[in-house]
Amino acid sequence: MYKDFQSYLQTTLKEIEEAGLYKNERVIVSPQRAAIKVNTGKDVLNFCANNYLGLSDNQELIDAAKKALDERGFGMSSVRFICGTQDLHKELEQKIAEFFGTEDTILYAACFDANGGVFEPLFTEEDAIISDALNHASIIDGVRLCKAKRYRYSNADMQELEECLKQAQAQRYRVIVTDGVFSMDGNVCPLDQIHALAEKYNAMVMVDESHSAGVVGQTGRGTTELHNLRGKIEIITGTLGKAFGGAIGGFTTGKKEIIAMLRQRSRPYLFSNSIPPMVAAAGCAMFDMMARTNELQDKLHANTEYFVEKMKAAGFDIKPTQSAICAVMLYDAKLSQQMAEKLLDEGIYVVGFYYPVVPKDQARIRVQISAGHEREHLDKAIAAFIKIGKELGVIR
Ligand SMILES: *Cc1c(COP(=O)(O)O)cnc(C)c1O
Repeated sequence: MYKDFQSYLQTTLKEIEEAGLYKNERVIVSPQRAAIKVNTGKDVLNFCANNYLGLSDNQELIDAAKKALDERGFGMSSVRFICGTQDLHKELEQKIAEFFGTEDTILYAACFDANGGVFEPLFTEEDAIISDALNHASIIDGVRLCKAKRYRYSNADMQELEECLKQAQAQRYRVIVTDGVFSMDGNVCPLDQIHALAEKYNAMVMVDESHSAGVVGQTGRGTTELHNLRGKIEIITGTLGKAFGGAIGGFTTGKKEIIAMLRQRSRPYLFSNSIPPMVAAAGCAMFDMMARTNELQDKLHANTEYFVEKMKAAGFDIKPTQSAICAVMLYDAKLSQQMAEKLLDEGIYVVGFYYPVVPKDQARIRVQISAGHEREHLDKAIAAFIKIGKELGVIR
């Protein structure tokens, strides 16, 4: 059998490569941070990590992880409900709830699992899930695992959402699901309008704060802070793998009965391993840091504003952003690849995105700003963008 299957795989892989869609991994041989070393020996500045708060190599978190490694061991060798729960896991769940102003939290190995395991235990074929068209793949997969009736509205299109809500009045329970920040444009979901429509049409709301937690809102509490809706959203999911240290782990936080039901019925929680003690301990240290100071948010917001202003002034076409994601629009797929390559030669690591990741003729370079970037890093990136931009005729 394998001979046939092998040749099928080889053909398909070749097609992917010929379409210019083959994904290669770039190998980093230093810690994750603003200035990294790759295995070619080159030193580059990293502008494509989700390391929004610069915490991936934070000493306080490393120390907390090391201490837990010594005191609580390496792994849990169990799911949560058998023997995979330490006080560290409970503490972390509590701190996440405090951070978001919610009632309770359930941890997962990743936000992919949180989203994969949130719909099926809560909703049946009698219910409706109304989802933004640009929601993350894990939300799409989670919805697929659930028998509820599905509705979809174009990205942040409130008229279409209202239309869906009208149609969904036939169902028993309704939930509107949205990313907090959409990862390709960096736009924030219009949560105030979504919440108002949910009130009007008797629906609940779920927000995935993966790209917004730690980032959006003056103190980084996410889209519920930005839109003054703390405590008013039924379900929030998020990751520890982005702004919050970048290691691993996800969570669902919100109304306590919802979290209680997930602990009974959510399959990735019931059938997948508990996060290691060192990750839970570092997570606790991280949320303690968030409670203590907004220094990192202030720096991130200042960095983002600075970068966007300078890039606009240089003539680049930047998508309006309220996050730390800055989309430099190029519209041409090949140009986006070329530009990313030339920027790497200049020591700036960014990635070009093109169809099918973004719509056709919407190719771009996505820049991700971090509190780990110093002014000199930003200036170096801006200078490189201007140099290569002129070389390729993107700006004059
Ligand atoms: C990154 C991301 C996820 C997945 O998070 P992991 O913890 O890496 O699995 C889920 N949802 C959104 C919106 C994301 O951006």
